[in-house]
Amino acid sequence: MLCINGFLIPYANDNFRTFINQNKPKMKTFFYTLFLSLFPFMIAAQSVFSVNGLSIAAPQHDGVEKFVEFIEKELGPAGINTLVLRVDYNYAYKSRPQLQNENPLTEKDVKKIVMASKKHGIEIVPQINLFGHQSWHSNLGKLLEVYPEFDETPHVKLPEKYEWPNEDGLYCKSYCPRHPEVHDVVFDLMDEIMEVFEAKAFHAGLDEVFYIADPKCPRCKGADPAALFAEEVTTLSNHLEEKGSRLWIWGDRLIDASTADLGMWEASMNNTARAIDMIPKTVVICDWHYERAIPTPAYFALKGFDVIACPYRKAKVAEAQVKMMSDFKRNSTPETSEKFLGVMHTVWSSAEKFLEEYYNPPANDERGSQVDCFKAMTNAVKKIDEQNSEN
Ligand SMILES: [Zn+2]
Repeated sequence: MLCINGFLIPYANDNFRTFINQNKPKMKTFFYTLFLSLFPFMIAAQSVFSVNGLSIAAPQHDGVEKFVEFIEKELGPAGINTLVLRVDYNYAYKSRPQLQNENPLTEKDVKKIVMASKKHGIEIVPQINLFGHQSWHSNLGKLLEVYPEFDETPHVKLPEKYEWPNEDGLYCKSYCPRHPEVHDVVFDLMDEIMEVFEAKAFHAGLDEVFYIADPKCPRCKGADPAALFAEEVTTLSNHLEEKGSRLWIWGDRLIDASTADLGMWEASMNNTARAIDMIPKTVVICDWHYERAIPTPAYFALKGFDVIACPYRKAKVAEAQVKMMSDFKRNSTPETSEKFLGVMHTVWSSAEKFLEEYYNPPANDERGSQVDCFKAMTNAVKKIDEQNSEN
């Protein structure tokens, strides 16, 4: 038996011994490189959670170098293994160039982010907001700007000065999921972004869809909102599954606000919640709650979904979510335990602003701090992992 750097090689004959002896320096380099490349995965495998995530807007073209440095110096060492990157129209799409924002990320930019992430065992899940969130305040999103015919509510005009509440109930515009051409466009974007990010999962947003089954839409009027929501989730999920990929969505439309005692953003007051029993169980639910650690991950897991708990600004909430997910895992049967994937911090400013706050913390903000919350989450996960390794 032969031993090289701790690896045992049985039954080595004389020729093989000679080969090994002659190539020892090369073999050492080989095993060292192998160890280094597997190290991030070995670290990830030790964590109680399979997802220790960060959800953040993709950087701007000019911010890529700093963002890559952030991945290398902060996210990798913090144990982050999943990066949901909100790309939307900030990419130089070749299939639909008319949908690019100004000065978008190039393929070369994306590859820099992909390489740095791979080095630290971080999976990227690119996101494009689909269905809802097609406008923000008085600004129309790129999809409806280029394809106004996809608008679910063309009769609702964007005001010059946006205010909430308003007569139209306008929060964000939606696209019509039954427009015969909308998926040709959406699938092109999804396919291209999945390929360039070398991703296995795609995040479609699908949160806070307020305009759905509008009575003036010739295709959707009279439809059951839950069935319509499920129809869109299933369409997107099926497209991804055909290519061996998975759909991730935010969970708010699947929670009934009236029974959960939650507001109209955090849960559904527009009859979509029953869709939870109509969508494929392969969809991953990102369950965001920012004020307290609402125990809805148990609801999703017991319905058969993989689920991730997501905090935002409050460190205490992040810590409570880490503990809750760990407790849920420990108290579940082995099969259900696996459905509690972990936690993912959500950043709702630009990547550039988050990095700025990360290195130059602002004065105390009573609403809490995104950076403190992120650090509280990653530290809480590390603490649980250390306790587990001691036991
Ligand atoms: Zn419609």
